[in-house]
Amino acid sequence: MCGIVGYIGNRDAYPIILNGLKRLEYRGYDSAGIALYDGTNIQLCKTKGKVSDLEKRVKKEIDTKGSLGIGHTRWATHGVPNDVNSHPQYSNSGNLVLIHNGIIENYATIKEELLKRGYTFSSETDTEVLVNLIEDVKKNENVKLGKAVQIALNQVVGAYAIALFDKNKPDEIVVAKLGSPLAIGIGDDEFFVASDASPFIEFTNNAIYLEDEEMAIIRKGREINVRKIKDDRSVDPYVQELEMNLEQIEKGGYEHFMLKEIFEQPSVIKDTYRGRLLANKGIIKLGGLENYIKKFTNADRIIIVACGTSWHAGLVAEYIFEDWARIPVEVEYASEFRYRNPIITEKDVVIAISQSGETADTLAAVKLAKEKGAFVYGICNVVGSTIPRETHSGTYTHAGPEIGVASTKAFTTQITVLTMIALKLAKIKGTIPYSDYMQHLRELELIPSKVEEALKANHKIEEIAEIFKGVNNFLYLGRGYNFPVALEGALKLKEISYIHAEGYPAAEMKHGPIALIDEHMPVVVIAVNSNHYDKVVSNIQEIKSRKGVIIAVVTKGDTVVKEIADYIMEVPNTEEALSPLVTTIPLQLLSYHIAVMLNRNVDQPRNLAKSVTVE
Ligand code: GLU
Repeated sequence: MCGIVGYIGNRDAYPIILNGLKRLEYRGYDSAGIALYDGTNIQLCKTKGKVSDLEKRVKKEIDTKGSLGIGHTRWATHGVPNDVNSHPQYSNSGNLVLIHNGIIENYATIKEELLKRGYTFSSETDTEVLVNLIEDVKKNENVKLGKAVQIALNQVVGAYAIALFDKNKPDEIVVAKLGSPLAIGIGDDEFFVASDASPFIEFTNNAIYLEDEEMAIIRKGREINVRKIKDDRSVDPYVQELEMNLEQIEKGGYEHFMLKEIFEQPSVIKDTYRGRLLANKGIIKLGGLENYIKKFTNADRIIIVACGTSWHAGLVAEYIFEDWARIPVEVEYASEFRYRNPIITEKDVVIAISQSGETADTLAAVKLAKEKGAFVYGICNVVGSTIPRETHSGTYTHAGPEIGVASTKAFTTQITVLTMIALKLAKIKGTIPYSDYMQHLRELELIPSKVEEALKANHKIEEIAEIFKGVNNFLYLGRGYNFPVALEGALKLKEISYIHAEGYPAAEMKHGPIALIDEHMPVVVIAVNSNHYDKVVSNIQEIKSRKGVIIAVVTKGDTVVKEIADYIMEVPNTEEALSPLVTTIPLQLLSYHIAVMLNRNVDQPRNLAKSVTVE
């Protein structure tokens, strides 16, 4: 999920790879490593930490000769960030050296098989399993490296961008892609490999972006051989002429990281349930949960502790857990919880949610809950961070690094994990009929495509943003599952546009906020298909009668709200319980566009930090 760089040509590979890794630093990572080959010796150096740490170690530890090399920045998914788990990973013979971004879902089964055949593993990574699988195929089938990679990848389930070389082939690098990005830069008698074009943009403007399920055999002084992994068909690659500058490349062509991350949601939600949700088989498999199911099913209650956007994800979970799994849930601000002498017992399960896994208040709440004997479960994005280490067990969201300070993809992937947990518990407890369980599973699997569809309204939302960019106050309303989405929508707007906004449960209007309504007050109402639809329509009428301006998030095809609202933002239909995953999309886009129009620093809003490591 982080960065890879490779070089084969006539220059020294080391400075190109080192600078390339520095260029990829924006992607966020926990370790870095490099392997250089001069045709006789492979020099390998890797370390937990930053590229600058790698640079220091390289200076002390290895010879940097060689015009073939591969480098990696790791964003751990399997095994904590440490030197051994860092890439490159060697095969058992020491001949193959591989770097990998992504996740090999079925690594455990492959590893078992390889262990039986006498292979040994020094790291905890899925990557070391892959390099040995390739070695095994190469030996047993007696094939060339490219063919071995192709056969091995056909046995692999998951996502990857890989680059590897063989000690016996000093003029060849093999790369392959599925899910994670991979670009090949074409120079004069030299080739570059990287997660995006930023590491090689000063050397060449010509690049091939591999498609999913494609691999390439790159040989010095030869044409690139691109093939389909599935059927070994040869592909005529499209060589693109790059016109982007460095900054544009880093942001994947988007103007801001936040926008990139908003648009990444269809794919990262898939990454979150990849290998865990097997909808057609009716299975949800969450590694961290399997051994602790009883803790949850026997719990008196679940207490969710979190801050900011994660707290809103927790509120959505409260509805889902209580509705489906029939377990009482309380959602607490970690900062309040830790200081108010809460009553916690061994019969409580505490779920701590934090993107970074370092949020100081959430961490303190985790420690307190542990002291009081509760079972503590973490839901974090950054592997090996402090909260996952401090909790008894947990699930990673696998959303990839989130760089924009205003959280977007972390929110939807946290909800995805929480939904899977709730569904699993509901099935085990028998609190929902099996047919409903299956229906929810199938619907969850469809969410990425629905998010994709919701994103298509981007330009329409931009037009709405243009109309409201000058406003000083906003209200956000929602009911039921979408009440927390209203809170999140308001928070997003505050964070990046500095416009005052408040989120409320729609029915609470009458108990105070309705006094604010006049023709100057835009009210964003989430009015999608739900059990409360008619009630929300009444709430909208109440606002209209007081001249409020309605911007409504509605289900595609809605006619009733469309008639009353001043502006609408459409999202595809889904189950009410899963609707926060789509209704949040137009709200993210609305805040984004308003902030851009106001010239705000969208990715680094004033006064805010990405990871709040102080209380
Ligand atoms: N799954 C691999 C690991 O945990 C690769 C992670 C990455 O994409 O950096 O080592």
